[in-house]
Amino acid sequence: MAGLIHVYTGNGKGKTTTAVGLAVRAIGFGLKVCYSSFHKNPDKYGYHEIGVLDKLGAKVLVFAKGHPHLDKTLDENEIRTDVAKGIETLSELIKTEKFDLLIMDEILISVRDGYLEEAKLLEFINNKPENLELVLTGRGATCAVIEKADYVSEICKIAHPYDKGITSRGGIEF
Ligand code: ATP
Ligand code: MG
Repeated sequence: MAGLIHVYTGNGKGKTTTAVGLAVRAIGFGLKVCYSSFHKNPDKYGYHEIGVLDKLGAKVLVFAKGHPHLDKTLDENEIRTDVAKGIETLSELIKTEKFDLLIMDEILISVRDGYLEEAKLLEFINNKPENLELVLTGRGATCAVIEKADYVSEICKIAHPYDKGITSRGGIEF
């Protein structure tokens, strides 16, 4: 069966949790899953889905640990290099390991914020193994990426507790 491409984008809550939910379902079905994230630092912010996916048997990889939005001390060139390394690592891995599902959480942020050229992501998509189902998340999906995708969901914020001054909560946001 040919693997399809998913894009979860938009400014509302639920892109990453959708990807994680899909990973759980896929593992439950017996699929081989790789979950990768970009610009997230689990050592600092937790992201407790990561440990769970690892325990469930997914291959978990964390690239470009951080984003200047959350950590002003980060070097932008280093982030760019780390994202490129992530793409390279995943390109090799999907050739050797026969994953059924690959999640690239927040990769659309890498493109949006100039840490990855859109052309590089399109190249990755074009060269993916035929059977691999690919999930891309993050705000600001570009038109060319959207055109490549089979499932495109834009999650629009209608309300978010952040606007009422309620900050991130453990187990809900991270
Ligand atoms: P989640 O990880 O909860 O599924 P997400 O992946 O859709 O959220 P991101 O755009 O990756 O959201 O945002 C990162 C963090 O910001 C998450 O903790 C999320 O809950 C929170 N967030 C999402 N939407 C908003 C918003 N409109 N305003 C403020 N914070 C938000
Ligand atoms: Mg997210």
